[in-house]
Amino acid sequence: MEVRTTIERREENRMLLKTILNRVQKFKSFVYGTVCWVEGASGPTIEVEVRPRTNSQPVCSGCEFTRVGYDRLPVRRFEFIPFWGNKVFFVYAPRRVNCPRCGILVEQMPWSSGKHRLTERYAWYLAGWAKRLSWKGVAEAFHTSWDHVFSSVEMAVSWGKDQMDLSNIEAIGIDEIQWQRGHQYLTLVYQIDAHCKRLLWIGDKRKVKTLLKFFRWLGKERTEALQFICSDMWKPYLKVIARKAQGAIHVLDRFHIMSHLSKAIDKVRAEEVRTLKAQGREPILTKTRWLLLKRPENLSNKQETKLADLLRYNLKSVRSYLLKEEFQFLWLYKSPYWAGQFLTKWCTKTMRSKIDPMKKVALMLRKHHPLILNWFRAKGQFSSGIVEGFNTKAKLTTRKAYGFRTYHAAEIALYHTLGALPVPKSTHEFF
Ligand SMILES: [Zn+2]
Repeated sequence: MEVRTTIERREENRMLLKTILNRVQKFKSFVYGTVCWVEGASGPTIEVEVRPRTNSQPVCSGCEFTRVGYDRLPVRRFEFIPFWGNKVFFVYAPRRVNCPRCGILVEQMPWSSGKHRLTERYAWYLAGWAKRLSWKGVAEAFHTSWDHVFSSVEMAVSWGKDQMDLSNIEAIGIDEIQWQRGHQYLTLVYQIDAHCKRLLWIGDKRKVKTLLKFFRWLGKERTEALQFICSDMWKPYLKVIARKAQGAIHVLDRFHIMSHLSKAIDKVRAEEVRTLKAQGREPILTKTRWLLLKRPENLSNKQETKLADLLRYNLKSVRSYLLKEEFQFLWLYKSPYWAGQFLTKWCTKTMRSKIDPMKKVALMLRKHHPLILNWFRAKGQFSSGIVEGFNTKAKLTTRKAYGFRTYHAAEIALYHTLGALPVPKSTHEFF
């Protein structure tokens, strides 16, 4: 009696699963057959037999035409989205076709592309989760391998890049990030239009060649349509932009300029710590790095007291900090003319400061005076803070990814998280 109840219940489960499968993924020329529970070493799995619909003809995977069947290959298992924690496999013996155009080829199977062991649905499912969790986290959560997660994301990125809409790009931001240890750079190009913000393109290194590749990818017509280009003062970038995008206003943006100042302060501070130590003076500067780099409004009460304390000393670090704080006023100007006056004065003052790293920044700013003032000419026409936001996310993505030993993997991860790539409609059903 007991046994029968169990069998009955299992039968119900099978029927339920078939009903659900027909709801989420119904095929025109294939039907679901028997469903069985298989007790494996790593827990139970569900195997779903797939059969061609009666009288349906196989479709050639080369040309997508219906062809005469040739023979059948051995049974293969294709992993589908897990069901209540159980692994689910489609089990199917693919037919081969005798195609007058392509020869003897395996048939097209609507649930799988090429040689992958995962069904397309499952690959999209994993790729979707890989936007929310690290790849390792996804692999662990779904009891699958890092490689499966990687190939799923890779598939999603390559599909999405093919479908990318490249019309109406008016404003772009060019940025670089360091990845791995040492001085390995990636060049990232973002679209920063108010109507669309996303990562557009990634290139290895930050050379003239890198950015030339981007413009080649974008094409002549779309390059001519560009109106604003934001970038850093990095020479190769300046050179290529001046040559390739003459119709656009080139803007040296706030984020990149401020980060040069922060780096200079870091340098001044590090040097001064060393000097003070050598002179045997009390280590007033230890643990002050964040005090000097944070905006004053972001400091805690305790930090504020410490900063006030620090300001009593006539240290180079402190004077650099004050110069940087003063520089922030630049961004409040509305008129390029008055901003220019302010910038000139600030540079003169800084040149007299006798602080080398700061003087270096001032020299650089002087040299690019017109491009900096373009920031005021372009104001409000694009989302200027967006490059900074993307920069933070890009760093996080590459840092989080312990598995990214290759450039290719880092590239795939960045496109996946920041590219706002399109996904097929059916993918939305699972999220
Ligand atoms: Zn064919």
